[in-house]
Amino acid sequence: MRVLVTGGAGFIGGHLCEALLNAGHTPIVLDNLSTGSLANVPSGTIFLHGDVRNPDEISQAFDHAPDAVMHIAGQASIRLSFLDPTVDLAVNTQGTINVLQACIARGVSRLLFASSMTIYGNGAPAPTPETTAPNPVSYYAITKYAAERYVHTTAARADLVSPLNVTSFRMFNVYGERQNLNNSYQGVFAIFTGNILRGEPINIHSDGEQSRDFVHVEDIARAWVSALDNPAAYGQVINLGTGVEQSVNHLCDATLAAFGLNRETYSIVHHPSQPGDMRRSAADIRRAQELLGWQPTIPFDIGMMRFIDWAKQAIKSPTPR
Ligand code: NAD
Repeated sequence: MRVLVTGGAGFIGGHLCEALLNAGHTPIVLDNLSTGSLANVPSGTIFLHGDVRNPDEISQAFDHAPDAVMHIAGQASIRLSFLDPTVDLAVNTQGTINVLQACIARGVSRLLFASSMTIYGNGAPAPTPETTAPNPVSYYAITKYAAERYVHTTAARADLVSPLNVTSFRMFNVYGERQNLNNSYQGVFAIFTGNILRGEPINIHSDGEQSRDFVHVEDIARAWVSALDNPAAYGQVINLGTGVEQSVNHLCDATLAAFGLNRETYSIVHHPSQPGDMRRSAADIRRAQELLGWQPTIPFDIGMMRFIDWAKQAIKSPTPR
């Protein structure tokens, strides 16, 4: 299949392109390189510089005749969503509407969308099943949930000339090789690792007892590619996580320990909680298991060491970003 990957020069998008190539597909990337990098785009991929806010640039990407679209492009930072909600809205919600309209206009019948666990907000049971009522508490989560509803409401329209089969993946905290070590706005594990490698203090917001569910990017990419032509995934919203809840304090201690450090020997700075912070987060992954036969395969202690080994090399010989 020819697969348009919006945001394919990003952290997750680059891994998706690699997994698509390994499965014999041809990825076509549309990315404005705002947080992505050409270094993430594997050879064998068609790269197009463009913005999902611009319908003409999306149309030019659809000229490459994709059979399916993986819509990953997004403003991925909760903090930035509070600093500039209009950009967040334009990229995450309007950008998704633009991609949907192109799918309809060109008769592309398969769309997979990068949604987020943040839409559950606070008060949800942990692990959280997809049936839990969304309660977004950040601007980012509002735009992701709105975009998800546009995706599924559009697919359900009775007046579409050709079918549109959609899947949204509510991804939990994705980590792994090639995550940006220099972006202090997104990816708590990559932020901590980058801090330690550069000898900077680690910043912990709130009391550090808020929890997250860390899932390795290779497991994520495998789920996306397996769902590409799997009718069981059509029309579905699916959590992708591990179900394992880990506090930010625990993450900090584990990361320090991997470098032979601890809280007594390293500078930790505590800050008040940030707007939009969730208290607990863990995925109920039974739906992914049932529909896709998907199971995360990389336990955090293994994935963590793989990531840190990669990060040590990446800081020594950085690829231009
Ligand atoms: P990333 O910042 O590395 O990737 C986003 C990509 O989209 C980048 O390559 C960026 O240049 C591109 N992009 C941004 N705005 C664009 C625009 N207007 N037009 C075209 N391209 C644009 O982040 P990521 O961690 O790889 O996240 C990918 C997607 O998954 C995002 O939509 C994010 O919201 C979502 N997501 C990420 C996580 C996570 O833990 N990383 C969890 C849930 C959902």
